[in-house]
Amino acid sequence: MVERSLVLIKPDAVERNLIGKILTIYEDNDLKIVDMKLTKVSRELAEAHYIEHKGRDYYENLIAYITRSAVVAVVLEGEDAIAQVRRLNGKTNPAEAEEGTVRRLYGLATNQNSVHASDSPENAQREIGIWFPGK
Ligand code: ADP
Ligand code: MG
Repeated sequence: MVERSLVLIKPDAVERNLIGKILTIYEDNDLKIVDMKLTKVSRELAEAHYIEHKGRDYYENLIAYITRSAVVAVVLEGEDAIAQVRRLNGKTNPAEAEEGTVRRLYGLATNQNSVHASDSPENAQREIGIWFPGK
């Protein structure tokens, strides 16, 4: 099924000039960029995006990380896009991510793992609504 997924290229990756290399991985795997923007995230947007994580021990660290400098928000479209992008990104902890995945290639640690991707159709719709309101 053709789906859409919301991807974030997080501050650690934007800071290290990795936007192009990361987008190339998605494009080379038949995912189409259908919307994109470079933006500095407000606390409010970060809290809305990570609502499911409120209360976790890493939550404040996560909000500080995602708001510390610019991110690139991308809507990717393709066959089984949600699962495909998560496969290409790799596991949350870069040390456990498979060879060739974005997080294995570029992630620094669990708390600086370079990318986000939607984990379900419901969250994809919710996240696209947050980052690209009205689309
Ligand atoms: P994923 O991004 O792989 O879907 P989660 O939804 O579990 O992972 O977590 C969201 C984000 O929160 C992670 O990408 C990571 O940046 C951060 N995070 C998750 N677990 C931890 C942890 N134990 N310590 C620090 N940061 C974490
Ligand atoms: Mg998640």
